[in-house]
Amino acid sequence: MGGDRVDPAALAADWTAAVLGTSYVSMNRRDLLRYLTGLATRLVASFDAPQWDRTVAAGVGRLMVAAHFTDARSLERTLVVVAEHLAPAGADRTSRLAALQGALAAGYAEALRERTLAEQERISMAAFAARIAAEEARWASEARYQAVFAGAVIGISVAELDGRIVQVNEALCRMLGYDAEEIAARPIYEFMHPYDAPGDWRRVREMIAGTVDHLRMEKAYYRKDGTELWTDLVVSLIRDQTGEPRYLVAMVEDITERHLLQTRLQHQALHDPLTGLPNRALFFDRLEAALEDGYAVPGVCYLDLDGFKAVNDTLGHDVGDQLLRTIAERLRAELAPEGHLVARMGGDEFVVLVEDAADPARMRRVAERALETVRRPVWVEGNEIRVSASIGIVGRDQGGSGAAELMKAADTTLYWAKNDGRSRVAEFDRDRHRTDVARFELSAQLPEALRRQEFFLEYQPLVRLCDGVTTGVEALVRWRRENGERLGPDRFIPLAEETGLIVALGRWVLTEACGQARRWHDAHGGERPLMSVNVAARQVREPDFVDDVRAALERTGWPPGALQLELTESDVMSAEGGPLETLGALADLGVRIAIDDFGTGYSNLAYLRTLPVHALKLAGPFVTGIGPGGRDGRGGTAGTEAVLSSVIGLAHTLGLSVTAENVETAEQHGRLRALGCDTGQGWFLAPPAGPARVEPLLGRPLPRLRRSPVPGGERRRPATG
Ligand code: C2E
Ligand code: MG
Ligand code: MG
Repeated sequence: MGGDRVDPAALAADWTAAVLGTSYVSMNRRDLLRYLTGLATRLVASFDAPQWDRTVAAGVGRLMVAAHFTDARSLERTLVVVAEHLAPAGADRTSRLAALQGALAAGYAEALRERTLAEQERISMAAFAARIAAEEARWASEARYQAVFAGAVIGISVAELDGRIVQVNEALCRMLGYDAEEIAARPIYEFMHPYDAPGDWRRVREMIAGTVDHLRMEKAYYRKDGTELWTDLVVSLIRDQTGEPRYLVAMVEDITERHLLQTRLQHQALHDPLTGLPNRALFFDRLEAALEDGYAVPGVCYLDLDGFKAVNDTLGHDVGDQLLRTIAERLRAELAPEGHLVARMGGDEFVVLVEDAADPARMRRVAERALETVRRPVWVEGNEIRVSASIGIVGRDQGGSGAAELMKAADTTLYWAKNDGRSRVAEFDRDRHRTDVARFELSAQLPEALRRQEFFLEYQPLVRLCDGVTTGVEALVRWRRENGERLGPDRFIPLAEETGLIVALGRWVLTEACGQARRWHDAHGGERPLMSVNVAARQVREPDFVDDVRAALERTGWPPGALQLELTESDVMSAEGGPLETLGALADLGVRIAIDDFGTGYSNLAYLRTLPVHALKLAGPFVTGIGPGGRDGRGGTAGTEAVLSSVIGLAHTLGLSVTAENVETAEQHGRLRALGCDTGQGWFLAPPAGPARVEPLLGRPLPRLRRSPVPGGERRRPATG
């Protein structure tokens, strides 16, 4: 033995530096140095020992593995560092160094192999344990599945992707009335049903292709006995371990009862309980669907019974109901077989939806047939009942695009049919509708117009024929609209009567006219002009009318005797009860009453005698009969004049004064004067005009009449009317 002694601390220091970071070791540098110092001390001792023992170096190799130096670089560097420190010790030790290196490497390798083996063993043990657990679980789930499958109350079937049914459970067999073999012999496609939505089977195909995993639908089947089974069906796709589609599992719940109940409720919701016909809601559904279909040109017959209310009132509701049922059934039997939907809209209104109404003649035929059907007498409880119907028909292209618009147009058209005399078919007419709409708009503006004082009065002189003096005026109302348009009373008085606004408007006219008369009289004095004011029937029927008249007179200070109210002949003639009393009360008040447009109505002078009437205004046609334009057949005027003469004579006998309207020519004027007519009014004498233009004429002879009247003179029309 001899040479330098090896310093284990120096070896440990270099060793630590060499292997640090070569493997994943959890020790820090200090701990590592301490650990390797221990190993280096043992190595150096064994190297220096007189007796060589390989187990020490092999042990150090093992300990390196134990410290997790498992990377090959750790071993390599260890061997290099060991050689650097031990080799200088002397050439005679070279063989011992090699032996030491070999033992260390062998120990290292051995330890590493053991460690790998142990790891593999641990993994395979775990895998084995896992397999056993999985198998147990599968067995358990299989058993559970079998139990569920067989005992389930819901039907279950398993099918291959080609549609072959490979398994069905008892419940499904019971539901369908087939046994398991019978079902298994059929592919799923044989269970298609006419009620299946086309999309349902498409989704099944998507499922087979693997793009859909679950689907749920309400589905009908035929049972073996032919009856219908309704089900809530859930189909799931089962895939194999690799994710490929493998089976279809269908789970079927019998919901037949629920479905029937629902169907019944739905039917109730969409049908009229009295007649069993589709109701309004169903009708609108169908109409909307037909309108959405770009090709169909649907049309509607809107039908309302005439006189149904009278049946109800006189014969009772039971008879009324029976009548409705009979008519509903007849309409259905007549029109439904051709595919028309007959629905009851409520009350005594029915509709027929004609889905293909491109041909207007076809619509009309359907409507005529409906009308015929309704007209046939109905026997109810021994009563023969005859009713008719009014029908409005509208096609898609006329009534706008939406269902609501179409029905509004149908409703309007029905109203025309009623208005034109019932028991008839009216067709939608765009122009008429437009006029209706315009009228409606106009009437909606009336209240605002009154508030904004857009109405004004013109006055037309009433001329005493014997001397041409203007003894009174007729007040005539006009409307100047916001846009400057001027409307005559014929355009808006009927609307005001319909809406009732005539009451307020009439009150204004009365006050304004009396006020004007008072102002004229205040300015000029002399004899008071007669202020003649038109009054609508609707006004006279108002309970407050007499009070209104009295109030207007009091407010303006105009005496009742200088006010004349003009009522039309038919209004007076049809006046019963209240209105007659009203006339009496007005007469008692001292107001004069004139019959306007006399000769256009009943012309019952004998009856007139019993009424508190003071004057007649002969209607235009009487006057127009005079002269070359006369309508007396042979161009002569003798006949007309004879009638006029006797009317005037009779009126005078009854104590009535007579005014002729529409005096348009000098000849008419001359003849009327000759016939003893008291007063005249007309364009020949003076047109209606504003108060300032009329004022100079009052109480004086008309200048034009000072020139001698020209027989057969031209008709004169006023510049303004
Ligand atoms: P009406 O009471 O018979 O009035 C006479 C109508 O004949 C007036 O038409 C007048 O302008 C027109 N007229 C006057 N001279 C001639 C003529 O020579 N030839 C022809 N062809 N016509 C002539 P207007 O002003 O358009 O009034 C029409 C109707 O409106 C009136 O007929 C009256 O029934 C009603 N009306 C006018 N103002 C009122 C009112 O304030 N209240 C009510 N309830 N109705 C009114
Ligand atoms: Mg009048
Ligand atoms: Mg008149």
